[in-house]
Amino acid sequence: MGVLLDRRDEKGISSQHVVALVKLAAASGLKMSSAARLARLIANAERGVAFTGAGISTESGLSDFRSPGGIWSKSSPVMYQNFVASRAERARYWKMRVELFREFRTAVPNDGHRAIAALERRGNLVAVVTQNIDGLHQDSGSRRVIELHGTARVVACISCGKEWPPEEIIARVEAGDEAPECDDCGAPLKSKTISFGQAMPAHAMEEAASLSREADLYLAIGSSLVVEPAASLPVAAKQYGATLVIINRDPTPLDDLADVVIHESIGETLRAVVDEVGQAGNGDGLRPE
Ligand SMILES: [Zn+2]
Repeated sequence: MGVLLDRRDEKGISSQHVVALVKLAAASGLKMSSAARLARLIANAERGVAFTGAGISTESGLSDFRSPGGIWSKSSPVMYQNFVASRAERARYWKMRVELFREFRTAVPNDGHRAIAALERRGNLVAVVTQNIDGLHQDSGSRRVIELHGTARVVACISCGKEWPPEEIIARVEAGDEAPECDDCGAPLKSKTISFGQAMPAHAMEEAASLSREADLYLAIGSSLVVEPAASLPVAAKQYGATLVIINRDPTPLDDLADVVIHESIGETLRAVVDEVGQAGNGDGLRPE
């Protein structure tokens, strides 16, 4: 008993800290057993992977495109083949991008993003794989970010690949250039995000799959885990031996497979866990670098 209580693992979390965490979790309304288990799992992880979906960014005020009130509930998304074939569809695409850009411009990372960055700095997570295109993981200090759906932070020519900051192209659209084209080759410009009908980025998919197989801890955060590859990456991680944790506001189809399931606010949950783990270790909490 004494050995257990006094023992600190190499990451510096002790049983006393877990007890303190349980008290903290009780105060914040989290389920004690889940939060305590999560802290223990995170403190011991060396090849952890965070997999994030829209749910982490809704806490930064960004709407989930697919949800009621989201951009796709007002107008259907532009399919990639229609974007290529039709100037009218490209104009419709850019009209929606302008709206999305205004929303993204003011969004800042929340405690959920900051916690993931802190856990990477601490050595418990090796990467974050995200379905989000908002760049908020990078803003919060995450270093290895695999973007499965591309990024809204870059606009590129679909033919020659020349890139622009989105601000410049949005300004052109707002000034009346409805479907902007490349000034080098004349091909259409498009946000460097993956549209419906467009192939997923092969390199990012391979990297995400390989991280899933090598992970000792897999945190699926803010994703409904319904559409591919969100539905299969956590399953692969679990099959290859990772402990699977799901943190999402609503139940997911993979809840029964997971070792820990938390249906609470992502930011509050991760802040409680990381603050405690951080105090137990090098004092590195949620402050950016
Ligand atoms: Zn071009």
